[in-house]
Amino acid sequence: MGAIRLGKIFGIEVRLHFSWVIIFFLVGYTLSFFYFPEQYEGLPQSTYITMGLITTFFFFASILFHEMSHSLVARRNGIPIRFITLFVFGGVSSIAKEPDSPNVELKMAAAGPAASLFLGVFFGAVGVVAAVAGAGAPITGVAAYLAFINVLLAAFNLVPGFPLDGGRLLRALIWKLTGSIQRATKIAADFGRGVAVLLIAGGLFLVLTNYLINGLWFIFIGWFLDQAARGSYQQVVVSQALSRVLVRDLMTPDPVTMPDDLTLRRAVDEYFLVHKHSGFPVTRNEEPVGVISLSDIRHVPQGEWDTIRVSQVMEPLGHGAVVEADNHVTDLLTRLHDRETDRLLVVDRNHHIAGIVTNDDIARYLRVQVALR
Ligand SMILES: [Zn+2]
Repeated sequence: MGAIRLGKIFGIEVRLHFSWVIIFFLVGYTLSFFYFPEQYEGLPQSTYITMGLITTFFFFASILFHEMSHSLVARRNGIPIRFITLFVFGGVSSIAKEPDSPNVELKMAAAGPAASLFLGVFFGAVGVVAAVAGAGAPITGVAAYLAFINVLLAAFNLVPGFPLDGGRLLRALIWKLTGSIQRATKIAADFGRGVAVLLIAGGLFLVLTNYLINGLWFIFIGWFLDQAARGSYQQVVVSQALSRVLVRDLMTPDPVTMPDDLTLRRAVDEYFLVHKHSGFPVTRNEEPVGVISLSDIRHVPQGEWDTIRVSQVMEPLGHGAVVEADNHVTDLLTRLHDRETDRLLVVDRNHHIAGIVTNDDIARYLRVQVALR
């Protein structure tokens, strides 16, 4: 949600979360008007602003470098990365699946902090060389700050609370010891929530002791971490619960189908009002050609319902609108998510309609599973 697409690096799409726009200004502003003027007195304000902008840019690039390292290691281990979203204090790589083994997770998780540490040392070295060469405060100051912030980034990400990198390392270790990714995630996520509570408590303390801005930062990051820890645990539980389920287990079989040359008027009168489903597979000569739902019809003014036909407004098949009955439900979830649709047509091996499956079917299945446990 709320992300700007920046482009592709090494074939991985990079997105910028909207929060980054705020962060960019906030970091740039704080550096240009408070941090640099206090650290390096006696320079013109324009110099501070230039230092602030350059530092903010490299700060952003450093986070991208950190995140790219995770992604490239993941990809080398056979885990496809769809995109990276750069967030407030780091990034999130959208990985298509959980790593298969704790060893892969270890490598992936370690790559980010290692990259940040490397940058910390690199900028530190740049600062030292610049100082030796007699460069002024603007250059050494920027390098010193970038060295500091990268080491801080590595340290923060190594905090052992899932889904931070340190939490992932912790999870991989427990996973290795217990053999259960679910239990490992539970423990690592609990650590994450513990860290979140500490951050929020620390933030409240800072607010009460007159460090309002720093305090709010701590509270915000703590809240964010708490949300992420809960979300990622639930995700693992759900994908575990669904990992052995096939699409045919939760689809609605033998759905009522609709011929594609029907007018919208007849589609509404004879199908939507009679069968009370919100969507139907569409066929031409008994072959599936698309899916139509109420929302496709809602866009058409009622006056045109007698002339426009189902084939003109349905969502045609192809581009992954069909899923095979023997596929795993986890594939289905990715497909539904990617397409931002709520129903897919299910076909058997001979490409005959076997059923229809919706988000609600998955939710219902999970409710039953939870109730039975
Ligand atoms: Zn990381």
